[in-house]
Amino acid sequence: CIGYLTIPVFLAGKIEVFVKKLGSKGGAGTTGIIAIAAVIGCYAYVDAPYLIALNAGTVAMIVGFLAMLILQSIQVKFKQEWLNAWGMIIAMFVGMGAAKVRDLFKQANEKAPCIVFIDEIDAIGKKRDGQMAGGNDEREQTLNQLLTEMDGFEGNNGVIILAATNRPESLDPALTRPGRFDRRVPVELPDLEGREAILKVHAKKVQLSDDVDFHTIARMASGASGAELANIVNEAALRAVRDNREVVTEADLEESIEVVIAGYQKKNAVLSDQEKKVVAYHEIGHALVAAMQTHSAPVQKITIIPRTSGALGYTMQVEQGDKYLLTKQELENKIATFTGGRAAEEVVFGEITTGASNDIEQATKIARAMITRYGMSDDFDMVAMETVTNQYLGGDASLACSADTQNEIDRKVVELVKREHEKAKKILLDNRQKLDELSNYLYEKETITGDEFMAILNGEAKKETNTETKIESGAEKKEADADEQTI
Ligand code: ZN
Repeated sequence: CIGYLTIPVFLAGKIEVFVKKLGSKGGAGTTGIIAIAAVIGCYAYVDAPYLIALNAGTVAMIVGFLAMLILQSIQVKFKQEWLNAWGMIIAMFVGMGAAKVRDLFKQANEKAPCIVFIDEIDAIGKKRDGQMAGGNDEREQTLNQLLTEMDGFEGNNGVIILAATNRPESLDPALTRPGRFDRRVPVELPDLEGREAILKVHAKKVQLSDDVDFHTIARMASGASGAELANIVNEAALRAVRDNREVVTEADLEESIEVVIAGYQKKNAVLSDQEKKVVAYHEIGHALVAAMQTHSAPVQKITIIPRTSGALGYTMQVEQGDKYLLTKQELENKIATFTGGRAAEEVVFGEITTGASNDIEQATKIARAMITRYGMSDDFDMVAMETVTNQYLGGDASLACSADTQNEIDRKVVELVKREHEKAKKILLDNRQKLDELSNYLYEKETITGDEFMAILNGEAKKETNTETKIESGAEKKEADADEQTI
């Protein structure tokens, strides 16, 4: 950058000479100017040390830039002619995309039957919104060419055009109208069955032991994408090799899911005794609140081994099947479960730690979505306060309401999370004895399975839960829950 800016100053003395010479010959025209530019270019290339590292293309651009600067500063009479030449240069570079599209379709028609696949089509197919200045926009020309070519198709000439994008909503409507890209195939995250099938495909490349149950693995990897599933199989294979084993076991796959979710085990992290205790109570807090609520998924595994992601421990909940609809109650229970960790710290130690930051984030996200997008607050009824703008890339949401309403939303989010936090605290207080028992067990063992957790929870607590739940609302409901837990 510095080179770019200093060259005109550096050359100022010499330029005058050239211009004077040109002036004496009189009316040399555009060719003369280009000649000047070339000479200056050579001069700059040889004399200015900082230019030598640049490639020829950059030098050519700098030459052009220089020439324009000179022309502007000395106001040569044939400025207009030069600008025309300048326009020609732009025309030479712009339109490359359009030419490529033309060429592509020419080839496709020659080679038909064939498939043309355009990846990341949003790069050229973005909505034409008129924000780009001038009609010379490269992207727009390319898009126009694409549209024209697609219109020239007969129904049966054997060329199929496929395109992929993560941002279908940003495409130009002209691209997606009937006759052009008129069929859509959404590729969502795989469901349970899909995950199982994908795992099997990737697992063909590795040797498996007989104990591998892809159904369980697929259930544990809830929400994983195809690429993540491939990664899980790969991690499992690496783990087997590290252990000098010939085959990949179920344990390898389970561990690799945790690696993908939470990072590697941090074997050298040494927590103090007190910290370890806090983490154990925190994680049991989550699990206990989850288990005590009617609709929460059972716990698969709880561990307090630190991970490279920064997690000091975590509770893995596993859904029995894929859920496509969540009820209001289920969402509220989820929030309560997220607050359960902090609640346990409060109940047991009367002190709070920084460990709950991720929980807080998640709980807030759910609470916010319930109020702004799912119409789950009485006051707002079925009015959308937020719209999701980027469904396939993270799903950012933008607010669509007045400042007053925003305040109201914030207040409601806080209210909702607070309510669930209180509920979680109450559940833990009511089950204080179990909380201690389970936490001590986890503290000793560091990792416990869902079955162990349930065994301790149901050991002698069955009567207890039944009597306790009567204090809460709906004794009938809770009894059904207790039955479920024994299963
Ligand atoms: Zn937590």
